[in-house]
Formats: sequence, C-alpha cells, structure tokens
Amino acid sequence: MSEGILVFIEHRNGALNKTSLEAIAAAQGLGSQLQQPTSAVLLGADVSALAREIAAYDLAKVVTASNAKLAEYTPDGYTDAMERVVRALDPQLVVLPHTYLVRDFAPKLAARFGKSLISDCIRAQVTGGAITFTRRIFLGKLDADVVSDGEPPVFATFQSGAYRPDQAAKGSGAPIEAMEVEVGEIRMTPEAPFQEVKQAVDLSKADIIVAVGRGIKSKDNLVLAEKLAEALGGDLAASRPICDAEWLPIDRQIGSSGQTVAPKLYVALGISGAIQHLVGMKNSGTIVAINKDPEAPIFDIADYGIVGDLFEAVPVLTEEVKKIKGLA
Ligand SMILES: Cc1cc2nc3c(=O)[nH]c(=O)nc-3n(C[C@H](O)[C@H](O)[C@H](O)COP(=O)(O)OP(=O)(O)OC[C@H]3O[C@@H](n4cnc5c(N)ncnc54)[C@H](O)[C@@H]3O)c2cc1C
Repeated sequence: MSEGILVFIEHRNGALNKTSLEAIAAAQGLGSQLQQPTSAVLLGADVSALAREIAAYDLAKVVTASNAKLAEYTPDGYTDAMERVVRALDPQLVVLPHTYLVRDFAPKLAARFGKSLISDCIRAQVTGGAITFTRRIFLGKLDADVVSDGEPPVFATFQSGAYRPDQAAKGSGAPIEAMEVEVGEIRMTPEAPFQEVKQAVDLSKADIIVAVGRGIKSKDNLVLAEKLAEALGGDLAASRPICDAEWLPIDRQIGSSGQTVAPKLYVALGISGAIQHLVGMKNSGTIVAINKDPEAPIFDIADYGIVGDLFEAVPVLTEEVKKIKGLA
C-alpha cells in the first residue's frame, strides 16, 4: 500500500533552491497530520554534499538518485529518474516546489502515472484522512479546493511563499539512501539557465516605496507614481508585469522573483496582490493600496485602502502630501 510523503529537492549544481525548504515545510505538516513519514529525494550525478545538508531536517530518509545523465537538468532525465524513485518508494503524495524547473517536468511525471498535477497550491489540509489542496484561480479572485479522488500517488506543487522556509523542522540526522537510477535517451541540450534578477538597486533598505502594477496602463503614466514617490521621499518599485514590459528595470521588481522589502510605508498603485507579489512586501510597516476592484486581494493585507481610480486618487494624494510637507 502506498505510504508516506516524498519531497522533491531542487538544486542547481548542488546549490539548493530555497523553495525546496518551503516544500519540506509543506510536506512535514501534511506528514504529521496524516501520521506518515516524510522523505526527500535529490537527483543528480553526485549530490552527496547537499544530501547531508537536507538530512539535517526532520525526515524519515533522504534518497539520492544518481546517474551521470542527471548532471544537468533535462525534462527527459528528471522525469525518468523521478518515475523510478516514485515507483520504488510508492509514496501516497509527492510534494514539489512550484518552480520553473518543476513546471517543466512535473506534468510529464504525473502523466506517467496516469495522474494530473495539482499545481501552484497555496495551502493543504487533512480532513478525515483526505488532503484538500487549495489553489488560487481567476487571478486570485477565487480559491478552489481540490481533492484527488484517484489512486495514489498524488502529485502537488506549492507556490513560492505559501510556506516559510524556516518552518521546515530540523531533526536529528536523517539516513541517506543512495540509489542508482536508470535514465533513457536525453533528447534535449540544456541552454544557460534563466536568470531571474540582476540586482543593481537595493530596495530592501528603502523606508518608503511607491509600487505600480498593471493598473498604471502605460509607461507614460509612470510619471504619476514618480511624482508621488518624490513627494513622499520614497523609491519607485513595481509588480512583475511592469518589469516584464520593460517599463521599469527588473531590479525594481518586488516579489518572489524580485526583491523582498519591508519599508515603513508601501503604497501599491493598481496592483492586484498576487501571492508572488505579496511575499515580497507583506512585512511592510503600513500598506496603502489604491485599486478600483474592491475584491482585489491586496486589500486583504492593506492597512489603508482606496477603492477607486488611481488616475483620480494619485494626483490628489500627491498634492496633499506636498501641502503637508510644505512643498506645494
Ligand atoms: C513563478 C512566478 C513568479 C512571479 N514573480 C512575481 C514577482 O516577483 N512579483 C510580482 O509582482 N509578480 C510575480 N508574478 C506574477 C504574479 O502572479 C501576478 O501576475 C502579478 O503580480 C500581477 O501584477 P499586477 O498586480 O500588476 O497586475 P494585475 O494582476 O493585472 O492587476 C492589476 C490591478 O490593477 C487594478 N486596476 C486597473 N486599472 C486601475 C485603475 N485605473 N485604478 C486603480 N486600479 C486599477 C485592477 O483592478 C487589478 O487589481 C510571478 C508569477 C509566477 C508564476
């Protein structure tokens, strides 16, 4: 009978991807609720050093699945290796971090078992022995609860920021089990890895940040936010679509693939509040949001909110700030 939870640990040349620790935290929580052991798996040509690092966490065991063909990531190699490991360990649930790499191979892995992937979950809980996974849908407007009604294994990925890496509990040294895995033909040649952020501007020390989102509508309108930032004496930042569109450089991006900031004041203009944005700014002292949609998730964490058109609100706000500061 399938038992236990298996966590996939992502790394690049032996350097841990920190979202793997979040996945460990998610898996440990579910493992203790289900009273089932949680194990971890690492793939690679030689991952023994990282395996020792992971063995410090409270896990039943750490499995290293090795093959020279796994020295570099390829979806063919990782799918073959993970399939072998999952068939050998027969877990009830396979937990993976929702990274670019996982999104590349995990649907194919799940399909090998005739399963779909429950992807991008923000939480999961156990009721009556069954796991209910929660996923955000319709741009964060609704949360959908998903229960797998098929046979195990269940494959689920967790969104970056859904669990904290420091929630991953340390243990007393998990045993490391080395496994040689067979890997078939590799049909791809990997290119240089995608670089998320090159940081030139450090916003982590800013006291005041005015951040713009897609609600700003065009690059020309950024001047509105710049004026407010100037009046407040703050720095300008943005959500990812603004940086993707190159309206602002990528080092102004706040969120899971950008910078993490905690200013005294964070003003969010036309930002919906997707989890990937929130993880980068939710620890700000005071959060002010302007958004025309009263249901926007940013209002869940905002201390002050204006439900309205930023093109009307921001000029008024800027003028008022200037008056208070004697700048007008
Ligand atoms: C792996 C991954 C990593 C990611 N990393 C990041 C990241 O680091 N940072 C990040 O920000 N995102 C990140 N994202 C993207 C994230 O999921 C969201 O798509 C993004 O944050 C949405 O940006 P937004 O709020 O600007 O746009 P939208 O979600 O489109 O929201 C625009 C908002 O503007 C409001 N609006 C429109 N017009 C007006 C107006 N006139 N006045 C007032 N309000 C108005 C709308 O009501 C809406 O709420 C990531 C996604 C993935 C999959």
